[in-house]
Amino acid sequence: MADKVLIVRIGEIHLKGLNRGFFINKLTGSIRRVLKGTAAFARFDNGYIYVRDYEDEALIIGKVTRVFGVQSVSPALEVGKDYDSVLSAALMLLQGKSGTFKVDTKRSDKSYPLTSMEMSPKLGEDILKANANLTVDLHNPGTTIYVKIREKAYVFTETIKGQGGMPLGTNGRACLLLSGGIDSPVAGYQIARRGVSLCAVYFDGFPYTSEKARQKVIDLAKRVEIYTGHVKLYFVPFVKIQQEIRKRCPESYTTVIMRRYMMRIAERIALQENALALITGESIGQVASQTLQALAATNSVVSMPVFRPLIGMDKIDIIDIARAIDTYDISALPYEDCCSIFTPKHPTTHPKLETCEEAEAKMDVAGLVDDAVNSAVVQRAAD
Ligand code: ATP
Ligand code: MG
Repeated sequence: MADKVLIVRIGEIHLKGLNRGFFINKLTGSIRRVLKGTAAFARFDNGYIYVRDYEDEALIIGKVTRVFGVQSVSPALEVGKDYDSVLSAALMLLQGKSGTFKVDTKRSDKSYPLTSMEMSPKLGEDILKANANLTVDLHNPGTTIYVKIREKAYVFTETIKGQGGMPLGTNGRACLLLSGGIDSPVAGYQIARRGVSLCAVYFDGFPYTSEKARQKVIDLAKRVEIYTGHVKLYFVPFVKIQQEIRKRCPESYTTVIMRRYMMRIAERIALQENALALITGESIGQVASQTLQALAATNSVVSMPVFRPLIGMDKIDIIDIARAIDTYDISALPYEDCCSIFTPKHPTTHPKLETCEEAEAKMDVAGLVDDAVNSAVVQRAAD
């Protein structure tokens, strides 16, 4: 009897020392969470997680390969270790196939009567006898039959890449500055992929920006959540601060000063959320507010680490990731963001810290930040 099983490889977690068990439990938990509502069940056993009892293989593979910490998966047949069972599983997988193949055997059970070197050619020979449409090609085979001899034998032909990274909830929490753009959802995804849970802040330009712009951010958060788990999303009313900035600051400095406010407010919300870092979608030189001088001026108002995973990336590569994680279509919708209201004609690309500070001295920064934090609204609490 051959049972269908999905072998899940745990990648980097293998390298963990004493707390390996903690990581494995988190990963198994993440997989079980995405399998909820299906009959499938995941269990760790001796270096791998095995998912069993499923009908719709493609559905299960789709779900499991989205889990952070999953290196790759292989849909396999699980059979007894006796030679005949392994052979019949291999023949089952090759049914209807033609072209070239090879067999690749590995045994972690060293007490097994045949060595890997003996097993592969023997299987190859018997497969050839049973299936006249196949020939052997050891160097460039059309199909490779992998045979793993462990507590049981596992036979498969396919390995599908997962997300890699670390299981969610193994590396603390960070607060994402989530705009409606292309970059920030990708930045959130990249950091969450290292096991960090997310909360998010959106600076809301309503009523200068539309209800649709708000909905866009909510929809983006939902898309990111397919990977990151629940993202608690705050909306911060931002127009009052923008108006104050426009009234009191040199026009060319309005963007960089606005960004300094965003960082201050996000840091306060992060603290409330027990988050230890901020995340932005900034990338060097992408726009005037992302020159090194502007980034330095923006960074200097917070003491928390700011993660900018896209900092050295080109837009075109960021877009590739946005497409792969399926946020691009939403990000590309044309609704404006608060950054697009009150934009200066000529934003400075070389802001000076002293000029920012002089301008801010004319404002009640602490009061404005307090007000903004106090009027932040949680858009999406837990589902
Ligand atoms: P995105 O980076 O998401 O495409 P963008 O390209 O318009 O937005 P900027 O406006 O320069 O970039 O903003 C840089 C970063 O600041 C964004 O990646 C995001 O992290 C944060 N940010 C900008 N606007 C907002 C906003 N309205 N709400 C929350 N965060 C924002
Ligand atoms: Mg950007």
